[in-house]
Amino acid sequence: NLAEKLQDTFDKLRGKGKLNEKDVKAALKEVKMALLEADVNYKVVKKFINKIEERAVGKEVMESLTPGQHVIKIVNEEMQELMGGSKEEIAISSEPPTIIMMAGLQGSGKTTSAGKLARKFAKDGKKPLLVAGDVYRPAAIRQLQVLGERLEIPVFSMGDDSDPVDIARGSINYAASHNCDLIILDTAGRLHIDQEMMAELEEVKAAVEPDEILLVVDAMTGQDAVNVAKNFDQRLDINGVILTKMDGDARGGAALSIKAITGKPIKFAGTGEKLADLEEFHPDRMASRILGMGDVLSLIEKAEKSIDKEKAAALEEKLRKNEFTLEDFMEQMDQVRNMGPMDELLGMIPGIGEAKQLKNLQVDDKQLDHIEAIISSMTPGERRDPEVINGSRRKRIALGSGTSIQDVNRLLKQFKQTKKMMKQLNSGKMKKGGFKLPF
Ligand code: GDP
Ligand code: MG
Repeated sequence: NLAEKLQDTFDKLRGKGKLNEKDVKAALKEVKMALLEADVNYKVVKKFINKIEERAVGKEVMESLTPGQHVIKIVNEEMQELMGGSKEEIAISSEPPTIIMMAGLQGSGKTTSAGKLARKFAKDGKKPLLVAGDVYRPAAIRQLQVLGERLEIPVFSMGDDSDPVDIARGSINYAASHNCDLIILDTAGRLHIDQEMMAELEEVKAAVEPDEILLVVDAMTGQDAVNVAKNFDQRLDINGVILTKMDGDARGGAALSIKAITGKPIKFAGTGEKLADLEEFHPDRMASRILGMGDVLSLIEKAEKSIDKEKAAALEEKLRKNEFTLEDFMEQMDQVRNMGPMDELLGMIPGIGEAKQLKNLQVDDKQLDHIEAIISSMTPGERRDPEVINGSRRKRIALGSGTSIQDVNRLLKQFKQTKKMMKQLNSGKMKKGGFKLPF
C-alpha cells in the first residue's frame, strides 16, 4: 500500500549520510510511482513532485546534517498542503439554526454520515434535527428514523410523497418549535451524476440557503470520487467533503486529490459503519500517518501539557550559558516522567516503536528511579560540579542511594555526554524555545 511504499523509500533515504541530486531524484521517482499506483490524480502528482524537487535538491538540504530527514520533512509539509494545510471547521451560524445539507451519490454514505454528524454535534452540546429529504429510495426515511431513535435525536419527515424543497422548508419551522439549533438535511442521491438530481439539490439549496453543503464521497472509488466532487462542486459550490469508507482498502487517491482538484477541503473522514466512526480530518496528522512519522503530534500535545514552560525557559537559559547541572538534569527527568511511562512515549516516536534493536531494551521506569536516588544522594556542591566526585565520594553516593558504584559511574558518564551534546547544540544553531531533551 501507499504508506508502506513511501516508508520503504524513506528508510533508504534515512540510511544515507550524504545525499546527492541523483539520490533525491531516484527517491522522488519512487514516491511518484507509489502515488500513481494509489490512484492519485496524474496532474496532482506531477505538480506535487515538482514542488518537492524544487525544494529538496537545493544546497540547504544536501549540506544539512540529516539530508534524508530533511527531504522527508519537505514531503510531509507538501503532502499536508496538498490536503488543505490545516483542519477546516464547520460554519456554525450566529443565528440558529445552522443548516447543513448533505449531498452525494447513492450509497456514498449520506444518511449514515448525517447520523454521525448529529451524534457529534449533540455531544458538543448542540440540539440537532435530522431531516428525511430522500423521498425516492425505498426505506430511506425509515433508515434515518432508526438512526434518530438510536441517538435520541428528533427526525423530521413528511413522508415520501412530498417535495424535497417543501420538506427542507418545513424543517426550519419544526426546528424552531422544537428548540433545535442545527438542521442536518439528508437528501436523495442517484447512482450517477444526473441532471434531475442536481436540479433538485439546487432548488433545496436556494430554498433554505444552507450554511454548509457537505458532499459525501466514497473513498473506495478513488478517482471517480474526485470527478464526482468536481461535478457537484461546479453545480452546488460545496463547502467541504466527507470522505467515507476510509476503513476499507481505499488507496489514498481520493484523500490526496480532492482538495487539489476542487479547492474544497475534506472536513471529515468516515472510518466505519458505526455512528461513532467519524473523524475530523486533520491534513497534518493524515500526512504524518501516511509517511509513517509516528504520532508526533500526540507526543507534542502530551509534552505541552506536562512540561512547565517557565521551567523549560529557565533551563534553556542555563544551557546557553553552559550552567546545566545534575540538579537540572533531575528536574528535567521529572518533567519527562510526568508525561507517562517511558515505553509508551517511545512508542510514539517515529521509527522507534518498530525498531528491532529497541525491542529488547527495557525502558524501565526503575532506571529513572535509580538516577533520581543517585542524584539525591549527592551534596549540592557535587550536583553543581560533578568533577569533584572522586572514588570515595562515589562509594558514599552508591551506598546512600542503594545502587552500585557502576551505576553512579554510568550516570556521571551520561551526564557528561549530555553536557557535551548540549555544548555542541549551543555552539551550533539552537533556536529559541527549541531545546532538546537529553535522551
Ligand atoms: P447514502 O445512500 O448515501 O445515504 O448511503 P448510506 O448512508 O445508506 O450508506 C451506504 C452504505 O455504506 C451503508 O451500508 C453504510 O453502512 C455504509 N457506510 C457509510 N459510511 C461508511 C464508512 O465510513 N465505512 C464503512 N465501512 N461503511 C460505511
Ligand atoms: Mg441515504
